[in-house]
Order: sequence, then C-alpha cells, then structure tokens
Amino acid sequence: MSKTIISVKNLVKKYGDFTAVNGISFDVQEGEIFGLLGPNGAGKSTTLEIIETLREKTSGEITVDGLNLDINPNDIKKIIGVQLQTAGYYPGLKLVELISLFAGLYNRSVNAMELLDTVNLRDKAKSKFKELSGGQKQRFSIATTLINQPKIIFLDEPTTGLDPQARRNLWDLIRGIRDRGATVIITTHYMDEAEILCDRVAIIDTGKIISLASPDKLIDDLVATGFERPKEVKKANLEDVFIHLTGKEWRDES
Ligand code: ADP
Ligand code: MG
Repeated sequence: MSKTIISVKNLVKKYGDFTAVNGISFDVQEGEIFGLLGPNGAGKSTTLEIIETLREKTSGEITVDGLNLDINPNDIKKIIGVQLQTAGYYPGLKLVELISLFAGLYNRSVNAMELLDTVNLRDKAKSKFKELSGGQKQRFSIATTLINQPKIIFLDEPTTGLDPQARRNLWDLIRGIRDRGATVIITTHYMDEAEILCDRVAIIDTGKIISLASPDKLIDDLVATGFERPKEVKKANLEDVFIHLTGKEWRDES
C-alpha cells in the first residue's frame, strides 16, 4: 500500500484582500509523480512554496513526511529538494564548484562527477553556469536539488522554454529520480508532459482544485460525458514530425 507523504488540508493564502489559494486539500503518495496543473495565476507556485516552507500560509494544515509544517519547518527543509530559479546561481562559477558550494551549505559530501552524470553533464563539469544551454541549465538546477538526497523534489515548470529533445531528456531524468525512490511534485503547462509523466494530477483554477485523479481517469471521465475531439486525430502530430526529423538526442548548443 502507498503511504501519504504530503498532506495539505484547507490551505488558504491571502495577499492582502486577494485570495490566491482558496481552501485546497490534497494528499501526495510516496513515490509518485504528482502534477499541479492550472492557468497562470491559479496558485500553483504559491502552494508549492508554502509546502517548501518558503512562504507563509494564511491558514490550513500541512504535514510533510509526518512533520507538521508549523512545528518542524527546519526538519522539512532537510528532506526536500527545491529547484531554484536559475537566476540564483553564480554565473561565473564552474559546475563542480557550484556543487561543492551547495554541498557545503547542506553540510553533505557529494561526488560531484557522479551527480553530474545523473543529469548528463559530466562533460560540462569545468564549464561555467553561464556557458550552459537552456536545457543544460535546467538539468543542472535539478542536479542541485539532489545534493541533500531528498525524499521529495519540487519542480516548478522545469521544462518551460525547452526544445522537444531537451524536454524528453528531462522527462527521463525526472522518471529516474522517482525510480530511485523519491517523490516528485511538478507543475507544467504542457498537458502532453503531464499525461506521460504524472501518476496523478490536480487541476487548480483561481485557487481551488477543480479535479484530481490520474490523467487516464480524467480523460475517461471526459469521454464518458460524450465529449469527442472535433476532428479526426491523425496518427502523428507535428511534434512527432519534428522529433522524427531532428532525432531524439538533445543538443548542446555551446
Ligand atoms: P501560478 O504559479 O499558478 O501561476 P501563483 O501562485 O504564482 O500562480 O500566483 C497566484 C496569484 O497570486 C496570482 O494572481 C499572483 O499574481 C498572486 N501573487 C503571487 N505572489 C504574490 C505576492 N507576493 N503578492 C501579491 N500577489 C501575489
Ligand atoms: Mg507559477
């Protein structure tokens, strides 16, 4: 049986008079990839940052791996990995130096080359952060979330702005992290990505969860209402054409 690793009950976040998160509740199971989907401004990042202990909630109850967010925020910090915005890195430092820096902050010793291997950046160990392509920067920022060997990893739109190859490469990376035992919470605007990657998704709109289930179940439920796609779907789409023509390998543009 699966175990609940994150529990969110009646979470509310107000910014002044504005209610950004309006009483949402959900559980995340250990070992799953859980997606938060929703239009811009729905409250996804706010929700994540509250669970990550980076933002104050207005009300509600949150536990992470049995730890109460109000009582044990520092213990929660130790077992989570949070993907920082890439702007937060020292652009002039080499990747190995950045990893040592983070390891020092976490008080952990890590094998930097092994870690870079897991995100396919071993060749770039001596490169500076600012010299990386967009996809490489994203992969590196995911590597930094792994330094403290977290039980739970938070990824806020990790594939936004990436080309199709880099996106696929990142999916493999995220699956690999999950397969090694971590729980992953991810936000994305790409529904194909959510469908392929997520075990379950919560769809958030204006601060409320309007649906929560596996992608398969949500699709079946819609079809059961009589919904049909307006035109016949071809056996391939333009992205298939693109990948077929340009290959699955991600490119290093430097
Ligand atoms: P999402 O990640 O789903 O796009 P956010 O959680 O970033 O949404 O934002 C939810 C809403 O809260 C948006 O309307 C946003 O403008 C507002 N918001 C976010 N952060 C702040 C803040 N620090 N002060 C005031 N309003 C904010
Ligand atoms: Mg956001």
